Amino acid sequence: MEHRVALIPGDGIGPEITRAMRAVVDATGVGISWQEVHVGAAVMEREGTPLPERALEAIRAVGVAIKGPVTTPVGTGFRSVNVALRHAFDLYACVRPCRSLPGDGSRYTDVDLVIFRENTEDLYAGIEFAPGSPEVAAIDELVRAAGMRGIRPGSALSLKPISEPASRAIVTAAFDYARANGRRKVTAVHKANIMKETDGLFLRMAREVASAYPDIAFEDKIVDAACMGLVQNPADFDVLVLPNLYGDIVSDLCAGLVGGLGLAPGANIGRDCAIFEATHGSAPDIAGRDIANPTAEFLSAAMMLDYLDEHAAAERMRRAVSATLAEGTAVTADIRRALTGSTEGAVGTRAYTEAVIAHL
Ligand code: NAD
Repeated sequence: MEHRVALIPGDGIGPEITRAMRAVVDATGVGISWQEVHVGAAVMEREGTPLPERALEAIRAVGVAIKGPVTTPVGTGFRSVNVALRHAFDLYACVRPCRSLPGDGSRYTDVDLVIFRENTEDLYAGIEFAPGSPEVAAIDELVRAAGMRGIRPGSALSLKPISEPASRAIVTAAFDYARANGRRKVTAVHKANIMKETDGLFLRMAREVASAYPDIAFEDKIVDAACMGLVQNPADFDVLVLPNLYGDIVSDLCAGLVGGLGLAPGANIGRDCAIFEATHGSAPDIAGRDIANPTAEFLSAAMMLDYLDEHAAAERMRRAVSATLAEGTAVTADIRRALTGSTEGAVGTRAYTEAVIAHL
């Protein structure tokens, strides 16, 4: 059977790592008809929008996509295409496993965490107002009428909506995953001591959902303490569930426990669409130089193959990556530096990809 998959190369290191990923997936023998979809700055220049309706339709028609990272201008310019895709397809669950691999160059071993990041709301909802705008003035008026200290003149404002349905959905996804995969514990991460309404609601939903899963342990931790705990003793954690912003930050922290961003895969899952992508961004500092580590994209593709019920091929890909890293003779510069303190002896993206294919 042939699967149809939308392939979004992205920009920066995106085209290199998605090309490498495609070569490895094709080498597993799973039949995939790849439908290329282009988004981002280059499309913006041609069509006036970085995410044209045509691209959304192409992804909708297929229901499964894998993408390279897409650059978002910082501070100004168009809004994140990545965030827009998550909203467009209601990809409410961002799932990011962080597992130690032999030879990953990390000072930690045996890390085995899975992050469930709420993917559609929180400060990423895109509800923002500029300083001096009528919206900030109107909200300031509401705030003062509610008896609170007003908003300081010259302030910009980002709103943080956290809803009952989205919180319940992401926590349920985390518990369902824990139960289906024999995991022992779910930790809800929040800052409900300070943000009593938004994070308080998230925590209430987490406790409510947890009560329906007596077979899985539940705890909650304040985000700052959770970060310290993760760095000191990651084995204290198992499955983590977080609102969007904390999930984004803690994902990179956990990637740092398992050899860095080059090794951390991810999936954005909705009810009828899923988009797979590495945790990392477009890495403009190393783009186009055949030095990016494509492993996170490979492992994201393995998650996609599981989603497509191609479990044997997914497992072969994971084993091939593991064996290549364990051997340690053909590894990219990020891993080489972590292992030896120098990039000397590292191989490029293409040579590493060939080594992984040879281990399939
Ligand atoms: P980044 O993840 O691109 O890079 C951070 C650091 O990690 C850089 O030093 C980079 O060289 C290194 N790195 C990242 N991936 C690597 C890999 N595969 N192999 C080796 N080294 C790797 O983060 P950034 O620099 O903050 O962001 C760059 C751009 O990416 C921004 O425009 C940001 O908005 C965007 N971004 C996109 C996504 C996405 O598409 N989902 C996610 C995060 C950031």
